[in-house]
Amino acid sequence: MNQKQGSRPLVAEHIEALKPYVPGKPISELKRELGLDDIIKLASNENPLGPSPAAVEAMRRVAGEANLYPDAAAYAFRSAVARREGVDIERVGVGNGSNELLTLIVRTFCSPGDTAVLCEYSFIAYRIILQAAGLTWTEAPVGPRYEASVDAILESVTGTTRVVFLANPNNPTGTYLPFEEIARLARVLPEEIILVVDEAYDDYVRAEGHQSALALADERERLVVTRTFSKVYGLGGARAGYMIAPAEMVGYVNRIREPFNMNALVQAGAAAALSDEDFVRRSVENNEESRALFERGLAEIGATHEGITWIPSETNFLLVETSRSGTSLNEAMLRRGVIVRPMRGYGLPEALRISLGTPGEIRRCLAALQESIEEYDGGVR
Ligand SMILES: *Cc1c(COP(=O)(O)O)cnc(C)c1O
Repeated sequence: MNQKQGSRPLVAEHIEALKPYVPGKPISELKRELGLDDIIKLASNENPLGPSPAAVEAMRRVAGEANLYPDAAAYAFRSAVARREGVDIERVGVGNGSNELLTLIVRTFCSPGDTAVLCEYSFIAYRIILQAAGLTWTEAPVGPRYEASVDAILESVTGTTRVVFLANPNNPTGTYLPFEEIARLARVLPEEIILVVDEAYDDYVRAEGHQSALALADERERLVVTRTFSKVYGLGGARAGYMIAPAEMVGYVNRIREPFNMNALVQAGAAAALSDEDFVRRSVENNEESRALFERGLAEIGATHEGITWIPSETNFLLVETSRSGTSLNEAMLRRGVIVRPMRGYGLPEALRISLGTPGEIRRCLAALQESIEEYDGGVR
């Protein structure tokens, strides 16, 4: 505001160019805007069964001690993670969501002039985090169905590459790279480069022979695996994530990390969620049922409406390609009380990313999608 000629701009160029992250529209916001009462949100890959009940119970139990600062070392939580993953506790780092860990990894290990390699159409947070740090990156091309390519990643590596970010499975495409390919990348990528495998959707993967990239830790030193509680554990609102990396790397990240980044309620809740196997099983079963239902419904819509397809997914969402304006279809669905995610900001103007809610939510979403397509086609003609 009121910037004098020749005076120094308020922010650096890379901050000026930064486009803020656009989250899924909150239900309360759509209520305010359209005065609708009955709204469903399938926009942020949240768990439709709610939070893990064990986590809620644990958070309730410790709420009465909220006057006390959290354990800065998050010892009980990290022990629970270490037990579950079969790793030494020194290899567990904690984050206020896994997004924070990705930021910490960049802040800890990247210096000016370093670059990153990502896949095209990968998680948008990587680009925001790198740009916020004033760093640049290369996007390795993906296949026609958005399949990540290890060869393309390797070809994108240059002498300045410091870190490779790979979401497996990937958001927003839902695509999955088999373990053997991740293993090949881990073995062939030059050893000084940090390989970050973001396994936010790991619990949903059904592919045969699937394993976490953690199994490669003996073969590759500079390997970081990140996990979140925002998806299968239903704790997106609580903000919790962890990373598994060599103890030395976790130690450096801990120098940068705010000591109380994981609050006391969340430390207790996330630890409890880890052992809530029944909830995880129910969540995955619901996801399978809803995916099958959604795919059948989309195939039916596609049989009578041209250009409706989807990308096979190993996650709790589907990327639906509509061959129409995703922005317009999204608006038509909002008017019907169904919040999905238009993908224009991801460079996919004709796609919608839709979370696999409960079967009831999926039925309602399919009806809204069909009506919206018909409304759009009627208006266009
Ligand atoms: C949802 C998601 C996350 C989770 O982020 P949080 O900060 O833990 O909520 C991380 N990576 C990918 C690829 C995701 O889709």
